[in-house]
Amino acid sequence: MLEGIRLISFDLDDCLWPCRPVIRRAERRLYRWLEHHAPRVTEAMSLEAMWEHRERFMAAHPELVHDLTLVRLRTLQEVMERFGYPQALAEEATALFRRERNRVEPYADVAPALRALRRRFLLVSVTNGNAQVEETPLAGLFHLDLTSAEVGAAKPDPALFRAAADWAGVEPAQMLHVGDDPERDVLAARRAGLRAVWVRRRPEAAWPWREPPPPRWVISTLAPLQAAVAG
Ligand SMILES: [Mg+2]
Repeated sequence: MLEGIRLISFDLDDCLWPCRPVIRRAERRLYRWLEHHAPRVTEAMSLEAMWEHRERFMAAHPELVHDLTLVRLRTLQEVMERFGYPQALAEEATALFRRERNRVEPYADVAPALRALRRRFLLVSVTNGNAQVEETPLAGLFHLDLTSAEVGAAKPDPALFRAAADWAGVEPAQMLHVGDDPERDVLAARRAGLRAVWVRRRPEAAWPWREPPPPRWVISTLAPLQAAVAG
């Protein structure tokens, strides 16, 4: 599987750490902060109402969905304006969310595998989300971190894979992508000419299609990748 590979790209959310608990906690922290600093907002809007507001904003602005931090800032700016608060509060609130968003807990197999793999391969993180890897416990383990916000398009668009290939000066055929999402990771990587590994953290997750079939490598932890470079 690693024959001829020079660069391994990794998806982050739900591949290297569970995403939902982090977002949930960050949203609750943000809401408590708003209760304190912008009480007219929270008196009028529940946490759920704020989610719905953001959903509507994203539906109305599909051109921004690759930049979730900007979406969050813009929706908070709208809310602050509506309730007569300064725009600076939206920026502070977004910064607070980002700090909380980076407080991820990687799966136990991740750091040891990355440490082993980075001795032989270039490691690049590629995410549609807004975590900042260098602010997480995985700081220092990747050679490059790329986000959809920076490259201007989210997976399954090939832009993130192309940016990684260009940075390293390698061909797609020399790249392996590791991710949890069948469409945005596995199929997107294949279409871009990369090999792909499907990380299935939840054993109940099923491959969604008969055709195309799942990749040859389906793993529930990164241990098999680490084992492949051992010795
Ligand atoms: Mg993911």
